[in-house]
Amino acid sequence: MSAVSTQSVPQGKSLGASLGASLGASQGISLGSCATGPKIVQERGQREVFCGLTGIVWLHRKIQDAFFLVVGSRTCAHLIQSAAGVMIFAEPRFATAIIDERDLAGLADIDDELDRVVTRLIERRPDIKLLFLVGSCPSEVIKLDLSRAAQRLSQQMTPNVRVLAYSGSGIETTFTQGEDACLSALVAQAQRADAAQKPSLLVVGALADAVEDQFRRLFAQMGIERVDFLPARRAADMPMIGPGTKFLLAQPFLTDTARALEALGAQHLPALYPLGAEGVAEWLRAAARAFGVSRETFEAVIAAPRARAEKSLERWRPHLAGKRVFFVPDSQLEPPMARFLARELGMEIVEIGAPYVDRRRLAEELALLPPDTPIVEGQDVERQLDRLRAARPDLAVCGLGLANPLEAEGFATKWSIELVFTPVQGFEQAGDLAELFARPLMRRELLEI
Ligand code: SF4
Repeated sequence: MSAVSTQSVPQGKSLGASLGASLGASQGISLGSCATGPKIVQERGQREVFCGLTGIVWLHRKIQDAFFLVVGSRTCAHLIQSAAGVMIFAEPRFATAIIDERDLAGLADIDDELDRVVTRLIERRPDIKLLFLVGSCPSEVIKLDLSRAAQRLSQQMTPNVRVLAYSGSGIETTFTQGEDACLSALVAQAQRADAAQKPSLLVVGALADAVEDQFRRLFAQMGIERVDFLPARRAADMPMIGPGTKFLLAQPFLTDTARALEALGAQHLPALYPLGAEGVAEWLRAAARAFGVSRETFEAVIAAPRARAEKSLERWRPHLAGKRVFFVPDSQLEPPMARFLARELGMEIVEIGAPYVDRRRLAEELALLPPDTPIVEGQDVERQLDRLRAARPDLAVCGLGLANPLEAEGFATKWSIELVFTPVQGFEQAGDLAELFARPLMRRELLEI
């Protein structure tokens, strides 16, 4: 096993995407429905998505004293390096421990090899306080037990370093599930708060620091005293969790994390997701209600930023209203994005494809979608592309692997991964979010002239 950090890598579509795509090979389509919401069609076939390792790209920036050690192949190393880029002035906070032929042939004890790599890393990097061992397709295929390795290494390195494990593999997952798996691992190891502890608000989902600061200010103005964010910026600041914890999801793809929080007694506050002026207002309102904030105080606190958000959308509405948008499954952000585009910018939704649709955590979003919007859970990429070509939407929101071929066919596209990389939550970011969708349309209009 050898460790690889940053170095130049080939450009272009990663093998990670193609391997992830080749693994969901069962064919078929079936009808499903949600007891309280619109009909959702389920589709199973070849997928075209990135794997959960991609989450390291934003998580390593968020948790400032964490390190992500992928235990995988050279393909995994290439994926993560191409996605995260090379940091020239800072030491990288991710690397890949490559499983090589000696490990696979049993010529080396893989646990010993991993211990050696981790020990060397921690000796060289005393700034690391939280180490994630990130599983991959290869480590799962050879049944490498990274949870046990994390426990063993954590015991050896306590109290200086905590070691956790999660899976970022591309076997039956999509790229945002990497964050869900990472946050679930943090919840499993979180300190328990007892029932006597004062109620606290927990915002769950990695947010840009500037967005987090804006939300903190709004909650403070409402008088909500105890607010934590998961993940915290530093390992030592990870929140305590218990029956007094009420949590808002900042991202719709955190199903397992939400379940883990509920298992510890925490209470989910159902709400729209904080995208667009309406989404942010309703998301904040859920917290205000749960913490007994008066209606007057709530309205006074959000009045000015909501007005700014609504104003910022005006600029982009002429470019988007009446335009038809098609979502190809990728980020799991598709339903809330579609709600935002339809209700606040007047776009027409042709189809919402999403890798997974958690009906419970998306109930508020699904209820606000235009009636009869086709929603497809899962993917059969060829069938979906056929429908897209037949519908000729003005804009296709899709993964990187599909964007270039679709552009070549004359479609305007938006990479859905940008919706995760870019700060888009919150009132102050509403205009930026609309701009992300408007730019490709404006560019195409210019080209057509
Ligand atoms: S985890 Fe799997 S899908 Fe992701 S880069 Fe590694 S081999 Fe490819």
